[in-house]
Amino acid sequence: MLVGFAEKVGRITAYPAADAYGPAGEIAMLASNESPFPPLPGVMEAIAEAAPDGNRYPAPSADRLRAALTARFDVAPERIAIGAGSCDLLLSAAEALLDPGTELVHAWPTFAIYPRMAAATGARAVAVPLDADDRHDLDAMADAVTDATRLVVVCNPNNPTGTFLPLAAIERLARRLPPHVWLLVDEAYREFAAGEDADASVALVRRHRNVVLLRTFSKAYGLAGMRCGYALCGDERFAEALYRVWQPFSCSVVAQAAASAALEQPAELARRIELTVAARLELEERLATLGLEVRRSHANFVWHSLGGADEAAVVDGLAERKVLVRRGSALGRSGWLRTTVGTAVENGRYLTALGELLPPQRD
Ligand SMILES: *Cc1c(COP(=O)(O)O)cnc(C)c1O
Repeated sequence: MLVGFAEKVGRITAYPAADAYGPAGEIAMLASNESPFPPLPGVMEAIAEAAPDGNRYPAPSADRLRAALTARFDVAPERIAIGAGSCDLLLSAAEALLDPGTELVHAWPTFAIYPRMAAATGARAVAVPLDADDRHDLDAMADAVTDATRLVVVCNPNNPTGTFLPLAAIERLARRLPPHVWLLVDEAYREFAAGEDADASVALVRRHRNVVLLRTFSKAYGLAGMRCGYALCGDERFAEALYRVWQPFSCSVVAQAAASAALEQPAELARRIELTVAARLELEERLATLGLEVRRSHANFVWHSLGGADEAAVVDGLAERKVLVRRGSALGRSGWLRTTVGTAVENGRYLTALGELLPPQRD
């Protein structure tokens, strides 16, 4: 029997899933930038409280969560879209914005979902290399915009390089873009970035109709398994378009309850972010003493070279020692690794294993 698939299935590369999913504990899960902390206080209770409503569909407009986000960010509810994780919103944005013949501009290396947005819709992905310091080259990205461009995506801080651009640089890009182009800023790791207040970028959606900020409960808020993300939109028509194309009820009853409860824990959230940032700095320092090139990260992971050692051998050796990380070759640069900041024990195991696997340093 001849079976057929849509043409796009041939164009889309499979999402580079981590090597193992299963109960954490023995395995150090440092491959997917999840939080090593359990859900924030009150979140599990909120999930249990929502569970009896499991026979009902969730509120399609996620009213309670949108109201909480409006209170938090002072962005009108019509300008907020909520999805089952921010990847859900990215794929909806692709469907809502991109037609064959249109273009999407993104950096490279960056989050692999962006080129997939083009592959899924028949649009053309224009990949602009990062600069010498692994930051987005925003001028080159603006130069890559044509009449066919619908969307420019900036990942800030960038996954996998951890690099970060200040608000002023992003705003300069927003001003440079012609009015037919949307600027989507993926801030999945924004809470971990040093310097500016993490909420400062929200001013962009008040000042520029074509800017959309994408945020998630999967990383700092530690709810990756719940699937909840949101978009703060400069123009309510963007949120409306997303709601038109997506599958109704994408964010579940329990995910909405969990996210709403998590928003009520800013102090504990801040404490955890501080612990993660401190652990990241220590990890970066120790990796540098192994003689490796380390990018200064603004996220909950580190991006570092292997100093010329064989990537596959190191990754296999780490897996044998039950430490899972992301290989750079799957993320756009072989010979580098992206490693999530885990618990102190996990980070220690990672460093010990790397020390065993890398050739001794010459000095
Ligand atoms: C992890 C991540 C996300 C979040 O995805 P969810 O679907 O919200 O879990 C979004 N963007 C980037 C760059 C990420 O690394």
